Amino acid sequence: MPRNTQKGAKNPSKGEKEEEVLIQAEFDLGLIGHVDHGKSTLVKALSGKFPDTHSEELRRGISIRLGYAIADFRKCPDCEPPQCYTTSKTCPNCGSESELLRRISFVDCPGHEILMATMLSGAAIMDGAILVIATNEDCPQPQTKEHLAATEVVKVDRIVIAQNKIELVSEEEDLKNYENIKSFVKGSSAEDAPIIPISAMHKANLDVLIQAIEEKMPTPKRDSSLPARMYVARSFEVNKPGTRPKDLMGGVLGGSIVQGELHVGEEIEIKPGVRKEIKSGKFEYVPLITEITSLSAGPKIPLEIAKPGGLIGVGTKLDPFLTKSDSMVGSVVGKPDTLPPTVDELNLEVTLMERAVGTAEEIEVKKIKIGEKLMLNVGTAATVGTITGIRDGEAQIKLSRSIVGEKGMKAAISRLLKRRWRLVGYGNIL
Ligand code: GDP
Ligand code: MG
Ligand code: ZN
Repeated sequence: MPRNTQKGAKNPSKGEKEEEVLIQAEFDLGLIGHVDHGKSTLVKALSGKFPDTHSEELRRGISIRLGYAIADFRKCPDCEPPQCYTTSKTCPNCGSESELLRRISFVDCPGHEILMATMLSGAAIMDGAILVIATNEDCPQPQTKEHLAATEVVKVDRIVIAQNKIELVSEEEDLKNYENIKSFVKGSSAEDAPIIPISAMHKANLDVLIQAIEEKMPTPKRDSSLPARMYVARSFEVNKPGTRPKDLMGGVLGGSIVQGELHVGEEIEIKPGVRKEIKSGKFEYVPLITEITSLSAGPKIPLEIAKPGGLIGVGTKLDPFLTKSDSMVGSVVGKPDTLPPTVDELNLEVTLMERAVGTAEEIEVKKIKIGEKLMLNVGTAATVGTITGIRDGEAQIKLSRSIVGEKGMKAAISRLLKRRWRLVGYGNIL
């Protein structure tokens, strides 16, 4: 395996340590599954950090939104698989120095049923996912089903299943649960996913899990010549109260690049941008144009060039008032005049699931009706729309908040069922 070097790093190799610290992650790995099945514990076991405690600014929002952490997957040159796979620099078996395979960025989704919109924003930036299933509970639980359905909607098809809390059950129970998982995933995108028994709490069998991830989820080929596109998942104002005007930093956008590259110094456009009253009572979104003043991987690693993989912080010359308190979440960033249009109406080719799977009792999905309100997730944007027309599986939707969208993009569709948004299907934008 080639070493993972990143020419975007500002101060490349001044010695081993620095080189390895200053690289960007190359793969966004999601953690999905039912609440309390051990997603955050697994991230902690692999990264050494409980997700959410990454940095002050990132933490504030992400703890209720998406957890974030990084880990290096490494391989010992002197040991056989699976023992050779580790996250530590020194091989736990033989003491040799391990080699870096790749840096992974975790997107830890909240498994709570009320946080599906957040889960769907996270799914939009995943390259692959670990479906965590606790072996001491019946399978499947509601969000086990709903999260798997969500990854199918947004086409995250690289999946590895972690059968967690394995130390809590007998061998027979374990086998029975394994069979349940097998029959649950039959016919789904995870049908052939490896099922790895682990204990996240006791860090047991994580080498086998890493091996499965390395073998089943190669980093997708990134085409750096495609126009840059970043989905904004966070935005902040980083100035402390009382900062003098000349020392004020511009607004910061946090998100993940889904294609292309961003460079320090380059001009970017942010859409939909800000909502302005153009005539009395008539509002329109006006895109923002600004310059990238800094780039960083996570909060700490400075970059000159940012690529897909992991959360990126983009410093800009924007008035920080515009970016504070996540106000830019759901926006799309790219070079001026390369982004899809801002729309306040969509035509969708709709595919509905037979049943909404997110509640203990599955609910039959009824046909969409004119006048009903649905939640749509497109990229990291969430918006509510009202159905204004339906014909032959095509729905016309008037959006309450504009989004950036174009033909071919997917929209996850959720409906209010028992007072919660539940995933009921998806639409292809026409
Ligand atoms: P999440 O909601 O999926 O992120 O679940 P957490 O990671 O927060 O874990 C939920 C609970 O399960 C916590 O009390 C963990 O300590 C516990 N837990 C996680 N992994 C294991 C495991 O492998 N074995 C046991 N016995 N408990 C675990
Ligand atoms: Mg968690
Ligand atoms: Zn070794």
